[in-house]
Amino acid sequence: MSMNLITVLYLIASVCFIQALKGLSHPTTSRRGNLFGMIGMAIAVLTTIALIYKLGAELATQGIGYVIVGLLIGGTAGTIMAKRVEMTKMPELVAFMHSMIGLAAVFIAIAAVAEPQSLGIVAAMADPIPAGNRLELFLGAAIGAITFSGSVIAFGKLSGKYKFRLFQGAPVVFKGQHLLNLAVGLVIVGLGLMYTFTGDVTAFAILVVLAFVIGVLIIIPIGGADMPVVVSMLNSYSGWAAAGIGFSLNNSMLIIAGSLVGSSGAILSYIMCKAMNRSFFNVILGGFGAEAGSAAAGEQVQRNVKSGSSDDAAFLLTNADTVVIVPGYGLAVARAQHALMELAEKLTHRGVNVKYAIHPVAGRMPGHMNVLLAEAEVPYEQVFEMEDINSEFGQTDVVLVLGANDVVNPAAKTDPKSPIAGMPILEAYKAKTVIVNKRSMASGYAGLDNELFYMDKTMMVFGDAKKVIEDMVKAVD
Ligand code: NDP
Repeated sequence: MSMNLITVLYLIASVCFIQALKGLSHPTTSRRGNLFGMIGMAIAVLTTIALIYKLGAELATQGIGYVIVGLLIGGTAGTIMAKRVEMTKMPELVAFMHSMIGLAAVFIAIAAVAEPQSLGIVAAMADPIPAGNRLELFLGAAIGAITFSGSVIAFGKLSGKYKFRLFQGAPVVFKGQHLLNLAVGLVIVGLGLMYTFTGDVTAFAILVVLAFVIGVLIIIPIGGADMPVVVSMLNSYSGWAAAGIGFSLNNSMLIIAGSLVGSSGAILSYIMCKAMNRSFFNVILGGFGAEAGSAAAGEQVQRNVKSGSSDDAAFLLTNADTVVIVPGYGLAVARAQHALMELAEKLTHRGVNVKYAIHPVAGRMPGHMNVLLAEAEVPYEQVFEMEDINSEFGQTDVVLVLGANDVVNPAAKTDPKSPIAGMPILEAYKAKTVIVNKRSMASGYAGLDNELFYMDKTMMVFGDAKKVIEDMVKAVD
């Protein structure tokens, strides 16, 4: 295969990746986007194997067996994990994947430093690695190591299954933490520059170890509630690490794919911060949600709410002209989307105007609710984003809040001291009647009490969302 053909194939793969990102930006085109991503990746992998053969036939025949075994093991594990994962556990899986990308970048950088000839960075038996390449290797290895250890901590915090202190959702903060991080960061940069200018391999080794350490240090003070933003940020890092390594290996595909991942991850982090009205630095500096949970828990015990049954809710729904459904994390946990679709169809059949309102950070990952509703084949024209539907709540007869909490919490607008103050919310509290389904008075992800539940116009329907919605369907019949 000629070098020109390899370049053309890489270009085709890059176009597929761009099409994949474009497709993934909307639920209607997301399947097509995924398909483009898979085709692009297949072309990229096969072309790279061809490139290995082209670079050195002898080396390739020795190593290709390992590559194929690696591909088979990684591919099989990835397929099994992706098939098994529940939608609500997706951020954990993504964190795990990023940790692997980071580790891959570190391994490639170490291999390149140890044997630059085999990776084509310098000609066989030639000079040491040029300074420019050393800078790229330093950046790729350092960012990769931070991505790895940071993603491992994010994975632990998201899963909530492990007793280990660093894996707890609560932020781990101590005196002088930011100063320590700054000091370690500066030492890494210093060692990186030392390696760049002198080629000192010991400096490279120490900086890689310190980068693993700082990855842990910068993620532990961040609370569980902010973890999905952190995962998206680490996603961005993993892309830049790959791009850095791509420069060293002179591989245009890695540079392009890495930059696409790096920039899309950064844009996604920005969008998420905006949806929570948090500044990026506020998330990174951490500590969010540390005290709020306990304060709210104390208050909840003493207050009364109005509660009703599924039958009461069905009565209100069937007598309404307009109903807006607000899905949240609890709906995903209960896997109640199909039952919900059935309920909405029955209401529509009875002449009720039904719409769905989606908050950009409802659930546990961006687009979570869109995916959930798409699974149940909810018509896209009934699904509205927050900015398009907020003006309608004032004229809505009934808002049906299903397993959502923080995204409809009026404290974001009314209490400047609230940790979620300023976060844009779905203004469900403006509707004539509000029905809220959840299992208890427990708080949502941000650990806060919710004034909406105590309003006169609100009726709580306690129970698992699936069971409650199924009962509502029967009652509507
Ligand atoms: P919340 O986490 O605020 O609330 C979910 C509610 O669902 C809980 O109060 C819980 O109450 C209820 N629930 C849980 N299981 C069930 C069930 N089986 N049946 C019925 N109800 C159930 O969810 P929201 O979607 O309102 O808000 C998302 C939160 O996640 C926000 O704080 C957001 O900032 C955060 N977040 C989201 C990100 C994203 O990308 N989507 C990223 C980062 C953070 P109970 O236990 O009483 O049932």
